[in-house]
Amino acid sequence: MIALKKLFAALSLGATLLLFGCYTVPETGRQALVLGSPEQEVQLGAQAFQEIRTQETVSNDPAALARVNRVGQRIAAAVGNDLPTASWEFVVFDSPELNAFALPGGKVGVYTGLLNLASSDDELAMVIGHEIAHVTARHGGERMTRAQILQGGGALLGAAADAKLSQSAANLAKVAYGAGANVVGILPHSRLQETEADEIGLRYAARAGYDPRAAVSFWLKMNQQNASKGAPAFSFLSTHPSGEDRIAQLNELVPQVLPLYEAATGRSGVIGQPNEIGRREIGR
Ligand SMILES: [Zn+2]
Repeated sequence: MIALKKLFAALSLGATLLLFGCYTVPETGRQALVLGSPEQEVQLGAQAFQEIRTQETVSNDPAALARVNRVGQRIAAAVGNDLPTASWEFVVFDSPELNAFALPGGKVGVYTGLLNLASSDDELAMVIGHEIAHVTARHGGERMTRAQILQGGGALLGAAADAKLSQSAANLAKVAYGAGANVVGILPHSRLQETEADEIGLRYAARAGYDPRAAVSFWLKMNQQNASKGAPAFSFLSTHPSGEDRIAQLNELVPQVLPLYEAATGRSGVIGQPNEIGRREIGR
């Protein structure tokens, strides 16, 4: 009888999850289990972003800010309705960390260490596209959901639903989106999430007019950094393993998204692209 009750409880929980927790990931169409609403995530994202801004040194370097905004806004435009809750904000943090993150609501942070490693706007676009893809796919929400189920309690998301957002929920959101140090109970991005973010991010960047081949060159550099530094010093490198597998997968993805890049750069409205200029001249 107890077993039967447990079964019913499990079935009822399962039904609830299916009814309220199914999220269709943009671009890939994967069905993901995400409890909590996008609005909750946006609130947590904004709170976490505010905290990070007070903890880190915000850069005032006009060139760095202009660069990150230039690339970020173009990708934001390519994301479009994939993130209807977005109120975009791009911030540069003055730190040698090889780090970047995006939080729900479209809050993006890039550290100068990573900014300097990305030697072209194309490379920078691959990182920003990848991080934003984690957000549009709600990977952090998916990870928080998994942690909640593993821990068997509703306390964390319950707290998030409360009007007074608890510190623990905001911290969880930070960690879940790779913007804070890792803690026990939250696993790094799964391999599936990483591959998915690569695929979606490449599409955003390509539609924004950035060359997807830069993903390979950038992640090769990250790979070298990883190797030279031994154990990853910060969560970005631990949640974004850049091994041979990833490079091989990127090499497979690039030809698939190249047509998007070609279409974007041949389309009117994309400024400063040689293809567009060439076409105009031929047209005249
Ligand atoms: Zn990632």
